[in-house]
Amino acid sequence: MPDVIQLLPEYLANQIAAGEVVQRPASVVKELLENAVDANATQVQLIVKDAGKQLVQVVDNGAGMSPTDARMSLERHATSKIRTTDDLFRIRTLGFRGEALASIAAVAQVELRTKQRDQDTGSLLLVEGSQISSQQPVACPDGTSISVKNLFFNVPARRNFLKSNAVEMRHILDEFQHVALANPQITFSLYQNELEVFNLPAGKLSQRIVAVLGNSYKEQLAQVEEVTPFIAVRGFIGKPESAKKSRGDQFFFVNNRFIRSAYLNHAVLTAYDGLLPKDTHPFYVLFLELDPKTIDINVHPTKTEIKFEDEKTVYAIVRAAVKQSLGLHNMAPSLDFDG
Ligand code: ADP
Ligand code: MG
Repeated sequence: MPDVIQLLPEYLANQIAAGEVVQRPASVVKELLENAVDANATQVQLIVKDAGKQLVQVVDNGAGMSPTDARMSLERHATSKIRTTDDLFRIRTLGFRGEALASIAAVAQVELRTKQRDQDTGSLLLVEGSQISSQQPVACPDGTSISVKNLFFNVPARRNFLKSNAVEMRHILDEFQHVALANPQITFSLYQNELEVFNLPAGKLSQRIVAVLGNSYKEQLAQVEEVTPFIAVRGFIGKPESAKKSRGDQFFFVNNRFIRSAYLNHAVLTAYDGLLPKDTHPFYVLFLELDPKTIDINVHPTKTEIKFEDEKTVYAIVRAAVKQSLGLHNMAPSLDFDG
């Protein structure tokens, strides 16, 4: 029998790998916004057309890239954020896998403009389905602008799988919200089909929460702050009367990364024990900070799941922090809702 195993051509390997990182336009939004944050931008603009199906563009005023780095940034497993295995256990950046741009470039038409602050000219790269079709010097502002056009143009099955514009836009707004909430020190704007939907000036977390989630939270925020040598828990929770029927406005960030955790959600809920009107869900935006050595964020390519070395202690401290805040705001069960 002849041998039958072959190495996949690179474009095909890239397309397959891309499936893990890029599921929909919102995945592109997440990766590009996170790169802008990692590049220390102070201003970030997100532009989408046709719910991201036609265009997702992120413009930042961050560090920019040299011409060589601009090319390198599109390679798989190419990153400036880690170098050694040890680095993997002290991650402070949002990215580190070096896969996002390569994945995006494998399944879209990408235009990358970037300039470092100390340079006179920047670079313009055009890429389509992993192939760089041109690179040339260009006059452009400091920072980076990446346009991702016609996502999945070369993977029709995936393109057909995309949901309605309303649904895809909802996912995009979710990702935008997460990054905007986690970084109130950065000015963000969002344009949808040429219309400005959000303009969030840099400010305090409480201002950002109201700007992103709505005025209804304005008088409803109770501050949380609990700092131990093992973990710091900070942020805001909603007073019990601001709890809503719909879930949703509940956000955990671990070392500034948005994560989902049913387990920690439960910790918050039990802290509210007896305070919430029936079938309502409290609002919270909580930031947990831990030594990166004690967590593993490399569970899934999208990094929204993480593992804590000492999950039980995290649970207990989150719960205590929320309870403490509710108590400080005179909302202890014994005082409210008892008649
Ligand atoms: P990762 O973020 O995991 O390193 P990416 O594929 O997202 O991988 O990006 C690859 C590299 O390209 C980054 O490590 C960074 O050096 C560079 N890069 C990407 N986006 C930007 C940006 N907006 N500004 C500056 N550098 C960027
Ligand atoms: Mg990245």
